[in-house]
Amino acid sequence: MTDTRQFAVFSCDLDTVDRHLQGYGIDDLPACDRIYRTAVPRLLELLDELRVPGVFFFIARDAEREAPLLRQMIAAGHEVGSHSMTHPQPFRTLADAALTDEIDGSRARLAAASGSEVIGFRAPAWDVDDRVLGRIAAAGYRYDASVFPTPVLIASRLSAYRRSVNKGSLRGRAIFSMDLIGHAFAPAVPHQASAATNATGARGLVEFPISVTRWLRLPVYHTFQYFVPPRLFARGVRALLRSGRPVCYEFHAADLLDLAADDVDPRMERHPGMRLPLERKRALLKDTLAAIARERRVVTYRHALEECLQ
Ligand SMILES: [Zn+2]
Repeated sequence: MTDTRQFAVFSCDLDTVDRHLQGYGIDDLPACDRIYRTAVPRLLELLDELRVPGVFFFIARDAEREAPLLRQMIAAGHEVGSHSMTHPQPFRTLADAALTDEIDGSRARLAAASGSEVIGFRAPAWDVDDRVLGRIAAAGYRYDASVFPTPVLIASRLSAYRRSVNKGSLRGRAIFSMDLIGHAFAPAVPHQASAATNATGARGLVEFPISVTRWLRLPVYHTFQYFVPPRLFARGVRALLRSGRPVCYEFHAADLLDLAADDVDPRMERHPGMRLPLERKRALLKDTLAAIARERRVVTYRHALEECLQ
């Protein structure tokens, strides 16, 4: 029998430890493969346990070195999307040539390494505007998953700023460079990107926003769990499920990383959730994904896109 329930997508950003730290203004760490070796196998095991597919947004800088992992993910039924070439921040203010390398270049590189077409993009720190979305469409992507339509993002930026070093520097101020107000009131359900954005893309671009609750637009986003009481977050998940809207739930590979046991750079302690033991973090993620999977058909964005366009 066909499962007619509304869909849910579980997506994971594979930000490496060095890229996370770079977001806090710490730029001295060479490319670090900790998440690929420790967190990703745990994530794959968890998704396998729940019998659901996931979408992994990959930093293409590491594509060749991690080609076996990319191919393993695709063989297991997961989807690989681009999380840019090098995860620069702020993303929206990059010059045209750099933006093209990050968007078009990462797509080609991930496709070559994974042996599979890459049709989805998520910008570093969700930092997109019409110009960036136009570039994403022109590069041949079919969807973007970078819009986070919640006013809470403003508070989250403030909190990231507090945890960052060099607050007086440009890098510190860059945390506020994105169009937070524009995001806050963007449509909160999957939709065709604007005609202006799609003018440059041959096949058009669909936007899959990160999920928020219907009225208050509270984020149903994993990192939010580290800041609010569990009951409040669970209530948001239930409200979203009851609303009948699609669920696009986002988390990060670092959500299954243990600061001490995995011998992670201790400066990562400033990152949300990094002071919690792995078992607690694993339970938080598993419980939420399981709660969503009980009520929804979990698919990849690629699959959801085909449905949306039918
Ligand atoms: Zn990222």
